[in-house]
Amino acid sequence: MTTLPRTSAGERAAALAPQLTAWRRHLHQHPELGFAEHETSAYIAAELSRLPHLSVTRPTATSVLAVLQGGKPGQTVLLRADIDALPILEENSFEFVSSVPGVMHACGHDGHTSILLGVARLLSEDPSQVNGQIRMIFQHAEESGPGGAEELVHGTELMSGVDVVTGLHLNSQLPTGVVAVKPGAFMAAPDVFRVTIQGKGGHAAHPEETVDPIVIGAQVITNLQQVVSRGVSALDNMVLSVTYFHAGTTHNVIPGSAELMGTVRTFDAELRSKAPGMLERVVRGITEAHGATYTFAYEPGYRPVVNTDWVAERLMGIARAEVGDKAQLATPSMGGEDFSAYLTRAPGAYFNVGSGNAELESDYPHHHPRFTIDEASLVTGVRMLYAAALELGKGE
Ligand SMILES: [Zn+2]
Ligand SMILES: [Zn+2]
Repeated sequence: MTTLPRTSAGERAAALAPQLTAWRRHLHQHPELGFAEHETSAYIAAELSRLPHLSVTRPTATSVLAVLQGGKPGQTVLLRADIDALPILEENSFEFVSSVPGVMHACGHDGHTSILLGVARLLSEDPSQVNGQIRMIFQHAEESGPGGAEELVHGTELMSGVDVVTGLHLNSQLPTGVVAVKPGAFMAAPDVFRVTIQGKGGHAAHPEETVDPIVIGAQVITNLQQVVSRGVSALDNMVLSVTYFHAGTTHNVIPGSAELMGTVRTFDAELRSKAPGMLERVVRGITEAHGATYTFAYEPGYRPVVNTDWVAERLMGIARAEVGDKAQLATPSMGGEDFSAYLTRAPGAYFNVGSGNAELESDYPHHHPRFTIDEASLVTGVRMLYAAALELGKGE
């Protein structure tokens, strides 16, 4: 284990470790889905109300905002944690396993919430040392479209006057203690497509009297594989996955229709805008060639997370000061994040904190029924976000 640089953020965060673990375990045991985080948000608000100098409000039914006015002039900094869980049946067996069957904190948002509570605690201990105003948003519904961030950005006053925004995601695929930051494109826009192929059903013994939507659907799927491999430059980023193909009821009936669904993920706005046309051309061509008709729907997901360069560079400097050689350049991810909604209104950057540790089996992928975090990552998260709040509050 390498010794980390001694900073005041580091020492104060380390002292909070038992409390961070207690918060995280309580949240892990009591997960709630997006837009239904009633007990979670009540718990967060109750914990915050025990801290001095904070103004705690509820911008939406299940989100919580804590505002701390610093004693020195400066910027308005927004720190964001997401608080929702996923519809997954947990397969872990530790004592604080989910008490709600089929609902689980399998993405680490229990950790994010605990980290931001920790930051609120440190900031509230001495506001005279804080520049500007620090807003801490405990955001609902990151995992459920249209997303809690969208509601907060467009339906509340949260972003009014915000100069800069930051937040973090724990990452089980990075070792505990690592902090990974990247300027520019960081996370993709996760768009969804849905296709219905309308053929003509009939007897499986007489396919010549039918228009078989299964065979046509299979060709649509195969041809969609060429949209990226043959239609997009190797230097651009796009991924297309067909994730759903449903048709038919039994062995001797050719069904009348088939349904397909999948996702397209991009970083670049121009490529993103071209994608629906590229997909529909394949669907139209294949279905027409075989006498079927189709419906095609394309639903934009979250915007891509594109970090503001100067904010990412500041965070990288903070990471080097806080975690030394465990600061690294992040690899972009094709995953999506509604953190991008905040970036439409203020400069900012999102970053990763490693929580993977093979010895603790905390290296399962996110959204896996055995996902968990190395709780040592909570301290790293607090020291980073606390130091970021102090530094960004001072201005550019
Ligand atoms: Zn997730
Ligand atoms: Zn997540």
